[in-house]
Amino acid sequence: MSHQIPIKEPLLYIDGTFRSGAEGHTFETINPATNQVITEVAEGRTEDIDVAVQAARRAFDEGPWPRMTPRERAGYLTAIAEALEANGHEIARLEVLDTGLPIKQAQGQAARAAQNFRFFARVIQDLGGTAQRFGDEFLNYTIHKPVGVAGLITPWNTPLMLESWKIAPCLASGCTAILKPAEWSPLTAIRLAELIDEAGLPPGVFNVVHGFGETAGAPLVAHPGVNLISFTGETTTGKAIIKNGADSLKRYSLELGGKSPVVVFSDCDFDRAVDATIFGVFSLNGERCTAGSRVLIEDAIYDDFVTALAERASRVRVGDPQDPDTELGPLIHPEHHQRVTGYIDIGRREGGRLLAGGKRPEGLPEGNYVEATLFADVTTDMRVFKEEIFGPVLVAGRFSDEADAVHQANAVPYGLAGYVWTGDAGRGHRVAQSIDAGMVWLNSQNVRDLRMPFGGVKSSGMGREGGHYSFEFYCELETIHVALGEHHIPRFGAPESPDQVEKGMSQSSA
Ligand code: NAD
Repeated sequence: MSHQIPIKEPLLYIDGTFRSGAEGHTFETINPATNQVITEVAEGRTEDIDVAVQAARRAFDEGPWPRMTPRERAGYLTAIAEALEANGHEIARLEVLDTGLPIKQAQGQAARAAQNFRFFARVIQDLGGTAQRFGDEFLNYTIHKPVGVAGLITPWNTPLMLESWKIAPCLASGCTAILKPAEWSPLTAIRLAELIDEAGLPPGVFNVVHGFGETAGAPLVAHPGVNLISFTGETTTGKAIIKNGADSLKRYSLELGGKSPVVVFSDCDFDRAVDATIFGVFSLNGERCTAGSRVLIEDAIYDDFVTALAERASRVRVGDPQDPDTELGPLIHPEHHQRVTGYIDIGRREGGRLLAGGKRPEGLPEGNYVEATLFADVTTDMRVFKEEIFGPVLVAGRFSDEADAVHQANAVPYGLAGYVWTGDAGRGHRVAQSIDAGMVWLNSQNVRDLRMPFGGVKSSGMGREGGHYSFEFYCELETIHVALGEHHIPRFGAPESPDQVEKGMSQSSA
């Protein structure tokens, strides 16, 4: 298949220049619809990471970026948002070529990336501290200061959008950044670097080093010049990152895997719950961290609900991701295709009842395609119930009452998102509040207000980003304690009465 999208040689972007890797290595990126090579990408390793960190360090320690007013930095972010919008169509097509995301969904993600830059440009200007008056004697207040150099490590599932989600608040705060994009989806990151370069940010403020986890990601995490790591990816990688960064005591934000439940009560709006469940697991090719990939259905409507899901799943349009009618495109990579189809085999062996999909679609002999797949009668002991598949595979099980629903919803190691469908408002809130998750949607599909915090509990991660919460990660909060008058200071070593010493001590901090 000819892609007809102009691709420049994807290089590293370090200290304001585009360059090859120091050792001259490259790696291939492929089109998931055909598994043909699209292009070679410059590969960075330890030496390139070191040069990029030094550039980001200089830009932070000596350059103008952290010293600008938030308003000035916001001007650059808005220019980046405008450039993303002006090039949105081409960027979406590039993303589709590199990831297999259906074009309509990729267009939505490209628009969201631009919104992220606009949004954080606004939030940084509104970011306020707190001030406390302590009697007549003191006034205390807080200020936000950028932490320093950030390593941003991203996955391949919605590359540009997830990169913007980290880069925008990082740069808005005054930090400088080294982005290490996923090796299976490098192309839009380099396009973004070009747009950021054109926006005229000072050299070294933003850098991109392509490469592999072990040879580019790991040296970035271990580098003593890096203060922060914001990572999105698999739970096992997150654990390795914490260990690897321990010696240099970094601050982490970890957005990890998920296996989010959709809890459907018999009094819900049946049709809307079906629509949302199907969209929630099969959009973004099922490669979605917040996918509602386990649906738990109340006994009374179980048979009808799984029948409706099966009917809809079998009609999900699988095909060429550049076709605007396509709903489900190819998975990112043959290795991932193998993993997902491996889980379909496991589901069969474990006794899941296959009601839809389960194989390569007719008429698509090449590329990493899998049909929209549904297993019914899945129970909490099965691997397909507990483990993240990260593909178009929905598993369904039944529950008897509210307590059983909550128990099953929480019976996995993950806790990223949850979805509850019921016509009983009180029960909706009770169940939503009982689910172990960072985010729960009640009678709603996954619509996210950018002002709200995003993140998971248990094996789904730590920390929250989004809205002003992102700045709690990228900024240090410094408290300034100001004496307004002549408060008492204990005079050790001076002749003084014991009760005066006591009064001074009671006001001191630890
Ligand atoms: P991954 O963990 O394999 O890779 C993610 C990134 O980490 C890549 O850039 C990779 O090169 C890098 N990496 C790998 N090993 C590393 C190491 N030792 N040190 C430093 N960096 C390393 O994840 P993936 O397969 O790219 O993405 C899929 C996963 O991401 C799924 O588990 C999904 O749930 C998760 N995800 C989570 C969220 C969220 O917000 N919670 C969002 C999207 C994806």
